[in-house]
Amino acid sequence: MGRVALVTGGNRGIGRAIAARLVTEGYRVAATSRNGEVPEGVLGVACDITDQAQVEAAFATVEQQLGPVEVLVANAGITRDTLLMRMKDDDWDAVIDTNLTGTFRVVRRAARAMMKARFGRIVLISSVVGLIGSAGQVNYAASKSGLVGLARSVARELGSRGVTANVVTPGFIRTDMTAGLGEDLVAKYNAQIPVGHLGEADDIANAVAFLASDAAGYISGAVLPVDGGLGMGH
Ligand code: NDP
Repeated sequence: MGRVALVTGGNRGIGRAIAARLVTEGYRVAATSRNGEVPEGVLGVACDITDQAQVEAAFATVEQQLGPVEVLVANAGITRDTLLMRMKDDDWDAVIDTNLTGTFRVVRRAARAMMKARFGRIVLISSVVGLIGSAGQVNYAASKSGLVGLARSVARELGSRGVTANVVTPGFIRTDMTAGLGEDLVAKYNAQIPVGHLGEADDIANAVAFLASDAAGYISGAVLPVDGGLGMGH
């Protein structure tokens, strides 16, 4: 039987592509979200990652129906973009609570069974802007940058128990999150991206499938850019 994988935010966009891809790789996959449907063959579990009790309940459901989580992909995330001088505390808090603290909540919960099993793969979905910054996104960039420190610390804490922790940093990917960019802005971004176009959710799913695989067992604490060269390796 395939390993058990849990993807947060698996009902749409990048998380949906990751969940579907892991199904084709033979994993038994659960996907959490607040709303919406998950891909075929995936166990859908309602969970708002800003709520500790919902995180606990979601893991309990997955453990009961599929078994302990062996691969965790922390993908759920939001933006609340505005310039620094206009940013409200609430914009900051909502993004940090979802992207950074929400990821901490699921990683901490997943680590328990991984340590016991002496196997685990943790993949955090960050962003190129967490490394190179982005005007209008101080909250989002800070949250995504924080995931690097989180993953690298987990990699050090749990490495001897067979658990790896890595980060994927997508560039601009065609999803709901980037749907509102407008043609002019997309053309501007395309000019800055060495490969010359936005990426697809499947581009991220390919990288995650590799990091989750046995072939990636000696990779930990890494930051893998999947951004068409936008961040130039950062
Ligand atoms: P979408 O906006 O398409 O999807 C976001 C996902 O996160 C949804 O499944 C959503 O669930 C879930 N989510 C948001 N908040 C919560 C919450 N509080 N609890 C549980 N689930 C939640 O985003 P993308 O697919 O584009 O992005 C996925 C990840 O990739 C994000 O972390 C994003 O920051 C990152 N990323 C995206 C890039 C892009 O260009 N698209 C670039 C770089 C990084 P629901 O539908 O229930 O709200």
